Amino acid sequence: MPRTLITGGAGFLGSHLCDRFVKEGHDVICMDNLVTGNADNVGHLIGKPNFSFVHYDVTNFIHVDGQLDYILHFASPASPIDYLKLPIQTLKVGSLGTHKALGLAKAKNARFFLASTSETYGDPSIHPQPETYWGNVNPIGIRGVYDEAKRFAEALTMAYHRYHGLETRIIRIFNTYGERMRIHDGRAIPAFITQALRDEDITVFGDGSQTRSVCYVSDLVEGIYRLLLSDYSNPVNIGNPDEVTMLELAKEIKAMIPESKSEIVFTPLPQDDPQVRQPNITLAKSLLGWGPKVDRKSGLEKTIKYFKAALR
Ligand code: NAD
Repeated sequence: MPRTLITGGAGFLGSHLCDRFVKEGHDVICMDNLVTGNADNVGHLIGKPNFSFVHYDVTNFIHVDGQLDYILHFASPASPIDYLKLPIQTLKVGSLGTHKALGLAKAKNARFFLASTSETYGDPSIHPQPETYWGNVNPIGIRGVYDEAKRFAEALTMAYHRYHGLETRIIRIFNTYGERMRIHDGRAIPAFITQALRDEDITVFGDGSQTRSVCYVSDLVEGIYRLLLSDYSNPVNIGNPDEVTMLELAKEIKAMIPESKSEIVFTPLPQDDPQVRQPNITLAKSLLGWGPKVDRKSGLEKTIKYFKAALR
């Protein structure tokens, strides 16, 4: 049975990965300090013989007994409201945390998988973004704590690959949504859904013309699984190229919750908010035979159902 460590495993994406790897028959160790995650996300796995949870901050030396075959490094605050509130922890987990996780991978001769992000492209001047684009990031802007930590994490991962010959994979994740996002997560989809369900104003930044391309979580998990098992060590974009403006998205969500009395209102655009975002997934398609399967309407329906139950 392969043994797999998932850092950040009690977070939104990490918990879905724990589910998938437990189902695939891996012995899964979920390691998380719960700074933005929630143990309830993996509560249903506790007691399974092939799952364990370790409450730990991965910016410190990481010790795991026995063999490890895979390390998936997903620990990091990911929502702007989290990383703006936790700027130093975010830089530390992207740098020190990645270093500790890579060191463990080297010691165990495990394959290392880094959760990087489309934010490495910053406010892009090429659209859609291919993996070959180097990005346009403001290192000293408020979002630099996240973007630069991830860029450093990619550089460190490639250095371990080139210098130590470590087996590594890097995914650049584009905006992903679904069940287990937090009510106060702050990212557009959970914010719009919870505002609509609570009859509060739906707050759209700027004039809402900025775009995102949103991927439903099950599609992302499939892409992660395929990339992990591939033999490709350069970064791969995984995301849904179905691009939408924030205003359209707010209107769609409002229409899907017809009982809502919410109005759409406009608030100031945050600093360095990217104007456009769309993955070029040519590489993922050819390399992994991967493409998104869940359309936005079905993904949003499932997510709305989840938030309705969570708000009850
Ligand atoms: P999340 O906040 O739900 O999950 C992150 C998890 O990491 C949390 O459980 C948190 O407690 C844990 N964590 C943070 N610092 C830690 C530390 N020092 N030690 C141990 N655990 C720590 O966010 P998410 O959306 O699930 O994101 C997971 C990963 O995917 C992150 O690395 C993020 O950068 C990346 N990512 C996510 C998206 C997305 O759309 N969700 C997009 C791009 C990249």
